[in-house]
Amino acid sequence: MWYLELENLAKVDPELVEMMKKEIDRQEYSLELIPSENFVNPALFEAMGSVLTNKYSEGYPRKRYYGGNQFVDMIEQLAIDRVKKIFGVPYANVQGYSGSPANFAVYMATCKPGDLIMGHALPDGGHLTHGWKTSFSGIFYNSVQYHVKQDGYIDIEEVRRLALENKPKLIWVGGSAYVRQFPFEEFSKIADEVGAYLAADVAHVTGLIIAGEHSNPVPYVDIIMTTTHKTLRGPRGAIIMVTERGLKKDPLLGEKIDKAVFPGLQGGPHDHTTAAIAAALNLAMKDDFKEYGRQIVKNAKALADSLMKRGMKLVSDGTEVHLMLIDLTPFGKGKGIFVQEALDLAGITLNKNTIPADPSSPFYPSGVRLGTPAVTSRGMREEEMDIIAGMIVRVIDEVKNYEMPDEKEKRAEVLKKFREDIEKNEVIKEVKQDVVELCKRFPLYKK
Ligand SMILES: *Cc1c(COP(=O)(O)O)cnc(C)c1O
Repeated sequence: MWYLELENLAKVDPELVEMMKKEIDRQEYSLELIPSENFVNPALFEAMGSVLTNKYSEGYPRKRYYGGNQFVDMIEQLAIDRVKKIFGVPYANVQGYSGSPANFAVYMATCKPGDLIMGHALPDGGHLTHGWKTSFSGIFYNSVQYHVKQDGYIDIEEVRRLALENKPKLIWVGGSAYVRQFPFEEFSKIADEVGAYLAADVAHVTGLIIAGEHSNPVPYVDIIMTTTHKTLRGPRGAIIMVTERGLKKDPLLGEKIDKAVFPGLQGGPHDHTTAAIAAALNLAMKDDFKEYGRQIVKNAKALADSLMKRGMKLVSDGTEVHLMLIDLTPFGKGKGIFVQEALDLAGITLNKNTIPADPSSPFYPSGVRLGTPAVTSRGMREEEMDIIAGMIVRVIDEVKNYEMPDEKEKRAEVLKKFREDIEKNEVIKEVKQDVVELCKRFPLYKK
């Protein structure tokens, strides 16, 4: 297939193609467990890699600043109509370049710089763009953060107390490392009490919402942002929706979102991406997508159970979505980096992550985050989740006794020695072989 062969590209840039082919093999022969990643249906590459990338279409369908947009108008309208149909919302914008700029547009539409906003703290599973101090959202807005309790659930009493105390203009519900369902209804009551806009950021769980596996935010929130490249299995992009509830609160909210995206903070939309979003939405309307969403959750529950059966501690003792967090503190603090790197070497990709009330730091956190959307796209099921759990625990057993020193100066040395050790580790080599064999049984693009 052209997206594997890259013959024409090799003629103009062989050096680049060599690198890309290594990445193609990495994806084909390793287990992708990063919960925000997925594999798109290769049909979508024909939209992403199309002549649509040549066009400028600043503005919106039938209101453009450039000529020649009659067909791009049709394509963008198709994507918008499909969003409205799938989610039952009156308004959608599909131009956001990615989740973070789309969230920025939500702020621009609802707040002035310096206004008070509230979001789920990043170390507790939230997202940078929900008011974290190093992000635009914590720099340009006055941010208050809420947390999860020791059991992993959002501390809804804290949310209510902080909202009443601070009277935020905008409240976010949603995040990137939360293993329970987001309580949209409870947030809506709090937002109503204080007159705040309520925005759901469902970047991670859109596919589960479509499949009916996660509660639906549409009746409860004013604005919904989702990325299109996570459980939705589309290209890298974003969708912003306004609900009936949102329009009732502010009839101009849809127009405000449009103006915030363009000309507020973006220029020309990526029409090739818009086309691929339309195609991803078309696939998401089919029954087998619902089946896919259900299997993601079944697989996540199976993987969580298999890990716990083998003695691993999970945040919140399990999951009801597509991802889970292994709490590595029974082995000591700050172990996430050792586990991530050793598993990476074994061909199992996941990421180090903070756990609630992490005793270590965000750069050397005490947990790892993993999930099932990508392996489910390959066709793996519960049986394979048990095999994967076994591989993960074998590798963790090899590295759980490494310690990250508190003294910063000593860390580089410890990591260097650790990396030399795992290169030579026989168990890790064996697991890597097993990973390749398993991947070959579930071919991705090399069918
Ligand atoms: C991934 C994610 C985003 C940001 O998306 P990017 O495309 O990486 O900018 C925003 N919010 C949440 C909750 C996410 O998980």
